[in-house]
Amino acid sequence: MALNVCVYCGSSDGVPQRYLDLASDTGAAIAARGWGLVSGGGRKSMMGAVAVAARKGGARTVGVIPRSMVEREWADHDSDELLITETMRERKALMEAHADAFLALPGGIGTCEELFEVWTAGSLGLHEKPVVVLDPDGHYTGLLEWVTGLVDKGFASQHSPLTRIAVAATVDEALDACGMSRSPV
Ligand code: AMP
Repeated sequence: MALNVCVYCGSSDGVPQRYLDLASDTGAAIAARGWGLVSGGGRKSMMGAVAVAARKGGARTVGVIPRSMVEREWADHDSDELLITETMRERKALMEAHADAFLALPGGIGTCEELFEVWTAGSLGLHEKPVVVLDPDGHYTGLLEWVTGLVDKGFASQHSPLTRIAVAATVDEALDACGMSRSPV
């Protein structure tokens, strides 16, 4: 089945080249599977790299960007579909509505905010779409350890929140996890 994968990732100028390469590899791999990309609709940094590579490989790309970010994140006007929202919340809602799976690459607090929203919604059974973290080098180790600790501290009772996400070390593993249907935890 052709999936639309929503990729969350860093948008800062200063990210190391290896993360830009990871974003490009992810976009190319999405295209190679005949899938589509949903992104934050910016042309900057990793966000731009994933979209450019996906399109180069023939993928259809949908970008969703708030009006206030059009200049700041260099709206990706080459997107097959560029949706301009009034708020960040609408952006996330539209990205979610267009996607069959969510994939977080290394990123900053914006990426974490987006990841946590779909992760927690999945934990609550509000959707059943796969949520995947691609972490080839331990960028998220501290965060994932903190989440694991929540069970011991009594802040996550029934299931570890980690059971609701897949953590992958390679692009292929991550996309395989995006393609897996899952039952609610
Ligand atoms: P960062 O990981 O901080 O580089 O941010 C990645 C992306 O998340 C950027 O496109 C930000 O505009 C976006 N972002 C940050 N905060 C929010 C939010 N509250 N809702 C939607 N997108 C956000």
